[in-house]
Amino acid sequence: MKIKTKLRLGLGILFLMILALSLIAARYVYLLKEDTENILQNNYKTLDYSRSMFLAIDGIHTDPGAWTKFEQNLKDQESNVTERGEGDVTRKIAGHYASLKADPGSEKLPVLIRNDLAELTLINMKAIQAKSDKALTTAQAAFLWIALTGTICFLIALTLLVNLPGNIGNPIRELTESIRAIAEKKYAERLHFSGKDEFGELARSFNSMAEKLEEYDNSNLSQILIEKKRIEALINNMHEPVIGLDENKNVLFANEEAIKIMGIAAGDLLGKSAVDLARQNDLIRVLIQEEQSLNGSSGHPASAALKIYADEKESYFEKEIVDIAILPTGERSKKFIGQVILLKNVTPFKELDFAKTNFIATVSHELKTPISSIKMSLQLLESSQTGAVNEEQQQLISSIKEDSDRLLKITGELLNMSQVETGNIQLNIQQSSPYDILKYAVDAVKTPLEQKHIELVVEADDRLPDVKADMEKTAWVLINFLTNAVRYSQEESKIHIHVTDSGQGIKFLVQDEGKGIDSRYRSKIFDRYFQVPGSSKSGTGLGLAISKEFIEAQGGSIGVVSEIGMGSTFYFELAKA
Ligand code: ADP
Repeated sequence: MKIKTKLRLGLGILFLMILALSLIAARYVYLLKEDTENILQNNYKTLDYSRSMFLAIDGIHTDPGAWTKFEQNLKDQESNVTERGEGDVTRKIAGHYASLKADPGSEKLPVLIRNDLAELTLINMKAIQAKSDKALTTAQAAFLWIALTGTICFLIALTLLVNLPGNIGNPIRELTESIRAIAEKKYAERLHFSGKDEFGELARSFNSMAEKLEEYDNSNLSQILIEKKRIEALINNMHEPVIGLDENKNVLFANEEAIKIMGIAAGDLLGKSAVDLARQNDLIRVLIQEEQSLNGSSGHPASAALKIYADEKESYFEKEIVDIAILPTGERSKKFIGQVILLKNVTPFKELDFAKTNFIATVSHELKTPISSIKMSLQLLESSQTGAVNEEQQQLISSIKEDSDRLLKITGELLNMSQVETGNIQLNIQQSSPYDILKYAVDAVKTPLEQKHIELVVEADDRLPDVKADMEKTAWVLINFLTNAVRYSQEESKIHIHVTDSGQGIKFLVQDEGKGIDSRYRSKIFDRYFQVPGSSKSGTGLGLAISKEFIEAQGGSIGVVSEIGMGSTFYFELAKA
């Protein structure tokens, strides 16, 4: 049965019961009223008339008004005949009264009238008794019916009171719990209302919804699993090692290549904390350490390749750490969820690089000797022992000399670079005087300065302490700064050299009035083979790169301050001895 019908029926029955109870009560109250009213109306009046007629008869001989009073009451009684036999007795009274009126002196007639009146009174008293009995019966019946109907009403109301709230409330409670379960993703939850009422319909709709949700969830899950497997297969088939970490640095995944190079079983790796693993595994330690240092710095991938010995051979990898952040549904800010460490195998490039470096080293080394002998020969040519040379020949000799000087510089730089690239910088660090380094460099650039008529202003602090440096390489750097400054300065300009005590170390500074360096290229000029577009092509683009390597290998720092059109200031700083 529908809830609506149930409610209607329940309330309807209650309403009908109240109505029935009211009707029954009203009916019996009416019957009781009728009974008492009859007594009052019919019998009480007759008794009253009889009493008045008694009094009138008693005073009939003494009171002249008694006749009229008697007649009046007799007349009233004649119109109030209600009981059986009452009419005969009334007519008997009227007959005796008529006789008394005709014979007022009769002694017998008042006695007869009194007897009649007594009979009349008796009839009415009996009638009162009978009516009182009837009223009592009515009252008893009323009590019985009202009690019976009341009890039935009470029982029905009690049944409704006990059952109806539960009938409606329980399914609602169950429904609420089930909805809560669904909200907690417990899609197996079902409602079990079997009736055909609204709750039954609701349960059927709810169950079909839950079923669909369950199906959707399962299909989603299987799809996610398939996607997961696909991605795992993709990652596993990659030829480069890939490692995934969650936000707490626990290893989420590592492909076969990564497992191979790390030399650790997959079971011991996955789900473990990378920080804990780093204690036993050198490679993971390097990854974590580098990552930590990267976090603090600019965030660029580590440029130096990692050398890893795995599979009985040496391999080189470039590491890249990609931070993974997602935008959770309904949120506005991105959330960091982990990192992917990609190791790019650069071994073939490294091997080619080594081959190139070796080739350059060999070629530049081999070239050095013939160039030196060319220079020697030029010196001989210039000397008077080999005969006089005319002016034209002299010019040719000096241009050959310039070219061979340049060639020697280039081969020197290439050799230095190959040393740097193979990691074979031989440093001879000792306590060196900054004044000696300065003098050595200034002497070396005298000729080019003179050629361009550039004034060199040297400002060195007094009593500078010694520095910890490889004298030769530091002077080489300073010479490189100075030759660059000369190369990129106008004729008849000025170049300043400042040597100062910076507190932490000794700072060498070369300041020119040249064209300066565009901010776009400033960060690149220390890169190998880099030349600012449009600048002199005679160089190799290696000078500053070698300078950086030389200074950093000695634990110093190097840099430049420059603005386009404002000249450039190159500096390096070395620790005091
Ligand atoms: P190069 O052999 O080409 O001079 P370097 O490594 O010494 O190579 O310099 C790299 C680049 O830096 C140069 O190509 C040049 O454009 C720029 N550079 C170096 N020194 C200066 C300077 N003093 N003024 C302007 N540009 C300079």
